[in-house]
Amino acid sequence: MPEPIIIVGGGLAGLTLGIALRRRNVPVTVWEAGQYPRHRVCGEFISGRGLASLARIGLLDGIRSAGARPATDAAFFSETTTMGVRPLPEAALCLSRFVLDHWLAEEFQRLGGTLRVGGRWTGEYPAGVVRASGRRPEPAAPGWRWFGLKVHARNVELRADLEMHLLPTGYVGLCRLPDGEVNVCGLFRSLIPVPDLAQRWPEWLVGPPGSALHARMAGAVLDLSSFCSVAALGLSPHRAIDRHECSIGDALSMIPPMTGNGMSMAFESAELALDPVERFSRGTMTWAQVQEEVARSCDRMFARRLRWAGWMHQALFSRPARSVLFLLATHAGWCWRSGFQRTR
Ligand SMILES: Cc1cc2nc3c(=O)[nH]c(=O)nc-3n(C[C@H](O)[C@H](O)[C@H](O)COP(=O)(O)OP(=O)(O)OC[C@H]3O[C@@H](n4cnc5c(N)ncnc54)[C@H](O)[C@@H]3O)c2cc1C
Repeated sequence: MPEPIIIVGGGLAGLTLGIALRRRNVPVTVWEAGQYPRHRVCGEFISGRGLASLARIGLLDGIRSAGARPATDAAFFSETTTMGVRPLPEAALCLSRFVLDHWLAEEFQRLGGTLRVGGRWTGEYPAGVVRASGRRPEPAAPGWRWFGLKVHARNVELRADLEMHLLPTGYVGLCRLPDGEVNVCGLFRSLIPVPDLAQRWPEWLVGPPGSALHARMAGAVLDLSSFCSVAALGLSPHRAIDRHECSIGDALSMIPPMTGNGMSMAFESAELALDPVERFSRGTMTWAQVQEEVARSCDRMFARRLRWAGWMHQALFSRPARSVLFLLATHAGWCWRSGFQRTR
C-alpha cells in the first residue's frame, strides 16, 4: 500500500500534483484554507511551458472544454504610446480562476482524492507533506509595497486578446475571457500604505484620465462580485534549494506577473515533483532525497527565467529603460519574441 501524501494548498500547483498522483493511485489529501469556486487575483492568461505540462498530465483537453479561450495576439500600451497589435510567439489560453480552480478541485475528487476545504494546515512540513500554499507574504520589498487587484468587466472592446497597460504606479493586463467578459488585473506599488483602497480600487484599475487604459475602460460594467485583492507580494527570486520544505508553485518563488508565467510554473513544478513524490510514497526514495531532487530540478528549470523576469520587471518601472524596451519591441521582432521566450 503506497504511503499517503498530504498537499498543503489547493491552488493550481497543489491540485495539479494531487490529480497527477491520483492517476497513479497514490492516496492524497489536499488541505485548502479557502472554498471553491472563488475569484483569485490573477491575469488569467496561461502561457509558456506549463501548457505542455498540462498536456502530459492529461489536463489540457479538460481545461479547454471547461471553456478556456485561445489568445493569439497582444498589444502593449504606455501612457503615451502603443506598440500596436502583435502576434504572440505561441498561443496562450485565458480562463477565469473561478472556473479553473473549481474544475481542478472537482477533477481531483472525481479521481478519488480527499479535499479538506476550509481547512488551514498549521503544522510543520514533515516527510510526505508537500507545500503548495502559494506566495509567502513579504511586507515591503525593498521599500515598495506591492499589491494586486482584479475584477471582471463587460462592455470593454479590446484591440487584442491580451492588452498590457503600463502606468506610473504599475501595470494592468486585460484579457478576453469566454462569454464576452474581460479580466482586468493590475499589479501596483506604493511606498506608503494606500488609504481607502477598499473603496477606491476602481480608480487604480481604470488608470489615470488621459491614459489608453482609461479610454478602454470608459464604458466598462464591472462585476463587483468578482473583485479581489492581494497584498504583501514578494517578487524577488528565491532558489528552491534554499527552501526547507518540498515546495511547488508560488511557495517556491513568485515570478513577476507581467510575464504571465506564474501559473505555468505552478503546473511545471507539480509535474517535476510527481515522480519523486510517487517514489517516496512507494518506499523507494527518502523524503530528503525527494526534497533535493524536486528543488534541483525546479532550480534548473526556473532560475534563468526568474532572473530575466526580474530584469524585465525592473525595466518596466524605469521610464528610460521602458522607453528603450518599447522602441526595440516595436521595431525589432526578435526583441518582442525574446521577451516572451526568455520568461516562458
Ligand atoms: C496581480 C497578479 C497577476 C497575475 N497574473 C498572472 C497571469 O496572467 N498568468 C499567470 O500565469 N500567472 C499570473 N499570476 C500568478 C499566478 O496567479 C500564481 O503564480 C499562481 O496562482 C500560483 O499557483 P499556486 O498553486 O502556487 O498558488 P495559489 O494559486 O495561490 O494557491 C495556493 C493555495 O494554498 C492555500 N493555502 C495557503 N496556505 C494554506 C494553509 N496553511 N493551509 C491550507 N491551504 C493553504 C490558499 O488558500 C490557496 O488556495 C498573477 C499574480 C498576480 C499577483
